[in-house]
Amino acid sequence: MARKPAAAQRLESAPLLIRRIDAIPVSIPLVQAVLMGGGQKFTHSESLIVRVEAVNGLVGWGEASAAPTMTGDSLEGMVAAVERYFAPLLIGQNALDLGMLARRLAHAVIGNTGPKAACDVALHDLVGKYLGVPVSALLGGKARTSVLALTQLANPDVEKDLAEAKQKKRAGYGFFKLKVGVKPVEEEIASAYALRKALGPEVLLCADANMGMTAAEARKYVAGAADAGLLFLEQPLRDNDLAGMLALARMSPVPLCADESAHSIEAIIDMQRQGAIAGVNIKTIKMGGLVGAMRTAVVSDALGLAVNLASKTGESSIGAAALVHLGYTVPNLDWGINLTNQYLATDLVKQPLRQKDGSFECPAGPGLGVEVDEGALRRFRAKKH
Ligand SMILES: [Mg+2]
Repeated sequence: MARKPAAAQRLESAPLLIRRIDAIPVSIPLVQAVLMGGGQKFTHSESLIVRVEAVNGLVGWGEASAAPTMTGDSLEGMVAAVERYFAPLLIGQNALDLGMLARRLAHAVIGNTGPKAACDVALHDLVGKYLGVPVSALLGGKARTSVLALTQLANPDVEKDLAEAKQKKRAGYGFFKLKVGVKPVEEEIASAYALRKALGPEVLLCADANMGMTAAEARKYVAGAADAGLLFLEQPLRDNDLAGMLALARMSPVPLCADESAHSIEAIIDMQRQGAIAGVNIKTIKMGGLVGAMRTAVVSDALGLAVNLASKTGESSIGAAALVHLGYTVPNLDWGINLTNQYLATDLVKQPLRQKDGSFECPAGPGLGVEVDEGALRRFRAKKH
């Protein structure tokens, strides 16, 4: 029998060699505008979708939201980072080497954790499809049978928050995050009590200021809203204000959570050691993907921190599926998981992820377990700015 050429033998022994990577920017309208702490208003969600193709024809998908005020990643910058730096580094590599590829991405460029995350998630989807296992199995296997679903309330007035919260409670949610740092503090304290009264003692409430409070406002808020039973207050102050967070933590009856300031494992260790935080918000876009997010979750658990997993506002079910697989596998998920695909007017997969009985089901199919709607991807492809 004739020997096969060396190149063909190599392809057979390494069928997951990466042959192509596409960076696809999308802009999807939201169902309604979302108000964030600091006064930002979102009407569209901007995401980078990464498509990874192996020599055997299998395809994996990943996503990262643009987050200029969190990771510094703009949509245009993420496309450039993938095309110029990450695609040349990944093409020709074996996708099965997830840890090695994550390290190469981490060291290739400083920052750019969003586009790194989109690549890393796409590689996990590809590897899961090849092995015929869900991403949760690649991450070590499920550690729980349900995840605590958290949903945010970010309307311009409390009446709308109340109406939305009641409707969501009827739909099964038992955990709500108030977006604060937008209105006068007295109004936001009153909103916390109004929601507690309307929803009852059994629901969980927390608040997120997205760095939108001054130190004085934050002190006033935690003292005033404490009896509304807030599980935690997330990122009241600027991301680099560790001294401010520490001073606030010393007087606050409400535990503090880091989000924008929790941009690396080292930063989280530092905040915890100084006594500034009781928990941490982990996102794939901050940690460069699933490998980085899982390591962060393991360290956070070892430090005794509560963990919240979250999508950036308006991530589609591609990014949401990655987060749900992570949510089922991290050692600790005390502060729940927040998906945001429900804010999109149109999702990017055939069967969007939905909340059920206060949880999100873990997609059971191989890889991320979602089928990308390529027609929707084409329709919402962002125009060049
Ligand atoms: Mg946050």
